Amino acid sequence: METPTCGYCKKQWSYFATLKNLFRLKMNCPHCGKENYYESTRNKGVLTLITAPAVIIVGAFLDFPSGWLIGIALILVLVHFLLFPFRTKVKKAN
Ligand SMILES: [Zn+2]
Repeated sequence: METPTCGYCKKQWSYFATLKNLFRLKMNCPHCGKENYYESTRNKGVLTLITAPAVIIVGAFLDFPSGWLIGIALILVLVHFLLFPFRTKVKKAN
């Protein structure tokens, strides 16, 4: 697992620099300042988001306390976002 590298200067972005750009399609390189575009890495990571509701549904069937289920689902969503920099790839804005 690696954080993305700039399409222009090829330097690696730090974890927090990438996380800061979480909801953006365009990201400015922290090194050279050029705009990079988010390149989707297909499916990877979507899994965590699917797992969260699945845990709630399965847990409800098994009569788990709902507080637990919500807690687990929240942790999964949190993990999903915390792993974002490692799933992200960026490319040059053409
Ligand atoms: Zn750069």
